[in-house]
Amino acid sequence: MQVEGRSADGRGVRLRIDGDRIAALEPIDPAPDLPLLLPGLVDIQVNGFAGADVNADPLTVGDLIRLTRSLCAQGVTAFCPTIVTAPRERILAALSVVRAARKQDPLVAGAIVGVHIEGPYLADEDGPRGAHDARHLRDPDLRELADWLAATRGLALLVTLAPERAGALEYIRAATEAGVIVAVGHTAASPEQIRAAVRAGARLATHLGNGAHPVLPRHPNYVWAQLAADTLAASFIADGHHLPADTLTAMIRAKGPDRALLVSDSVALAGCPPGEYRTPVGGSVTVDGDGRVRLTGTSLLAGGGRSLFQCVQWAAGQTPFSFTDLWAMASTAPARLLGLADRGVLAVGARADVVLVGDGPAPLSTICGGRPADPTAT
Ligand SMILES: [Zn+2]
Repeated sequence: MQVEGRSADGRGVRLRIDGDRIAALEPIDPAPDLPLLLPGLVDIQVNGFAGADVNADPLTVGDLIRLTRSLCAQGVTAFCPTIVTAPRERILAALSVVRAARKQDPLVAGAIVGVHIEGPYLADEDGPRGAHDARHLRDPDLRELADWLAATRGLALLVTLAPERAGALEYIRAATEAGVIVAVGHTAASPEQIRAAVRAGARLATHLGNGAHPVLPRHPNYVWAQLAADTLAASFIADGHHLPADTLTAMIRAKGPDRALLVSDSVALAGCPPGEYRTPVGGSVTVDGDGRVRLTGTSLLAGGGRSLFQCVQWAAGQTPFSFTDLWAMASTAPARLLGLADRGVLAVGARADVVLVGDGPAPLSTICGGRPADPTAT
């Protein structure tokens, strides 16, 4: 199979695919009507999409297969299903379903490159807690980490925690030593506690600027501390609701494009019609006409309402960054964080995860691991 397009730097490219790998990249005339040819998106924070819910109770193999197909049609060829705060047994049950789904379906095996466990070691204050269920929040537990590592062998493991919880620093050191990527998020930590977490090995600020108090002391506070930490990358929900465009712009500038990652944080209701729904993430949730997903009766957001592709499009229209630079923040940068050398790049030998992009609200086509995605999957 072969595809042709314009690469991010404007060159015409013919890409030959053999099996699930890119076999050759050949220069061609960069005709202006060629679509953009870009590496697949890598979304490290996906709670669900198009009705499929990672935090369904019980989660099924079928849910993950449907989710993977819907995401591939949106240009997302690699992702981390994100399991939120829940009782110990439920998190383990979800991890075993992830393993079963990867075993059963090759598309899922190729697309689920890691698992993001967001919680349960988060701040319990309203605001930083976000939509996480307060009944199941707890302190970091290294025995639980051992269970997670056993259940996710062969996958990247990303854990978001609040570093002010008892035992957090010891946990961050041990987890980092074991190859886990520790992220700071849903936190009410002091700046010193943030800096201590970074020294202990934390590498990411999860959806910086969200999962935070509505009002903070102007300085110092945990947002500045995370922005200032040079070894801490940061993810941002670029859905148009979680961060105003100027905040997103300033935060990306503070981190620099290599350490700024875009995520969707999409929930199962992303793309669903307006109305009130019941979900496992915090109970009753309202979807507004503009796609905002919030806890019913409050202004607290309960996850993202757009796919990562739609996030990149929104950000390209509302910030000074180019579409292709933003795309790299949603593809190359997250692949690098996860340690995946063969994702987020168009290179010989890399996995054939390729997206053709025109002017429309969805990709023209997506190739996931050498196989064309079903454009009707969403
Ligand atoms: Zn969150």
